[in-house]
Amino acid sequence: MSSPSVPVTNNGQAPEWTPESWRTKPIKQCPEYPDQASLAKSVAELKRLPPIVHPREIVRLKELLRDVARGEAFLLQGGDCAELFDYCEQGAIESKIKLLLQMSLVLIWGADKRVVRIGRMAGQYAKPRSSPMETVDGKQVPSFRGDILNGFALDQRELDPNRLVKAYHHSSATLNYIRAAISSGIADLHRPLDWGLGHVRDPALKAKYSEAVDFLTDMLRFMHTIGADKSQKLDTVDLFTSHEGLLLEYEQPLTRLLDNPSHGPPSANSPAKEYYNTSAHFLWIGDRTRQIDGAHVEFFRGIANPIGVKVGPSTPTSDLLALLRTLNPSREEGKITLITRYGAAKVAELLPAHIRAVEDSEYARTVVWQCDPMHGNTQSVSGGIKTRAFSDIFSELQQTLRIHKEQGSYLGGVHLELTGDAVTECLGGSEGLDEDDLSTNYTSFCDPRLNEKQALELAFLVADHYRC
Ligand code: PEP
Ligand code: MN
Repeated sequence: MSSPSVPVTNNGQAPEWTPESWRTKPIKQCPEYPDQASLAKSVAELKRLPPIVHPREIVRLKELLRDVARGEAFLLQGGDCAELFDYCEQGAIESKIKLLLQMSLVLIWGADKRVVRIGRMAGQYAKPRSSPMETVDGKQVPSFRGDILNGFALDQRELDPNRLVKAYHHSSATLNYIRAAISSGIADLHRPLDWGLGHVRDPALKAKYSEAVDFLTDMLRFMHTIGADKSQKLDTVDLFTSHEGLLLEYEQPLTRLLDNPSHGPPSANSPAKEYYNTSAHFLWIGDRTRQIDGAHVEFFRGIANPIGVKVGPSTPTSDLLALLRTLNPSREEGKITLITRYGAAKVAELLPAHIRAVEDSEYARTVVWQCDPMHGNTQSVSGGIKTRAFSDIFSELQQTLRIHKEQGSYLGGVHLELTGDAVTECLGGSEGLDEDDLSTNYTSFCDPRLNEKQALELAFLVADHYRC
């Protein structure tokens, strides 16, 4: 059964929050650093360094997510399962920006709505694991927990607090290049984009995708001709950053009490200063750490950023409202994104009750409903390789779209694990990848990602849903 929402004190107020009140709560997935002195040194360094993102950007994203909650815009969020420090290089960053941009164009065309883009980028370095140890070549070794904690190489599996500071620098360098690339015209939409439809064998699908591409190409050319791309700032696009807020030793020192850029006349909803987590624009609480009385929910209830919460088969319906009341007591629209991830076989049974619990409450129309069709659809094939079938991913997404329509709610977005590279980690799609193809270019150290073609194809299929 669910526990009560915010524990209430005698005078009816939630207990006081501080950036470290989470330390008094039970915590899951918490690393036990053997070297506390060097942990303290890294944390002190993080505290001194400047914010990675600015409150003004965080507030801007919140406004855009309010539009998503209202059904006026669509949210596209995507990137690696585990971002590695090695991905902090020009090619990997550019290919991901371009892919997210291309997908968003397809979605704009399909849904006829603005698209808000968030990368799982510039900080997605901490991974929850089912077990702290794993067996490799018959030996027990600490599991790889993401580059911010330890390294994938077997001789780097010990937790290293210096990696906290390294994560800060890789995150900043990645975001610096995202900003530079975008402001220098990587998203310059009047340059022809490579839509690479050569792999699509099914003639009906190919005709459908080509129609969309022809339309988009004509539209972009037309907007360029009349100068609308300049006046509408179409050639500079926003790309916000996000990661799972798992490692609170990292999140806490980057959380700062700063001026609220939208502060107007004093009011309860617009204090002059707020706590902003400046490690990313958007943070989410994972499926393994969303216990109502746990440390992660305690930490995130105090920060002004928009927050995501993963919701899955292990989420009791009664927990949903308790989570919303704890994380968003003032019922700000768009503050909370519920990221649902049940799996294609379970979504029809579980999602309707979750929707009703929220939409029949005082939180109706305040949340962003986002579908993560990846994490409920992971399977192991021969040799223990982790994969996901494109058909399952699409099926969960399609069922989610249908269920929201039936329930009168709005599916505001998708949350995907993807990469701009030609990896072979997920089965199927128009390339028809099968089990034998997985070994060709399987580079993920964590969950399998959609490759560029599969990701774009998913965007076409969602667009198609809206146009039918
Ligand atoms: C993830 O998004 O990589 C993840 C671990 O998801 P979940 O918390 O939903 O399992
Ligand atoms: Mn993952």
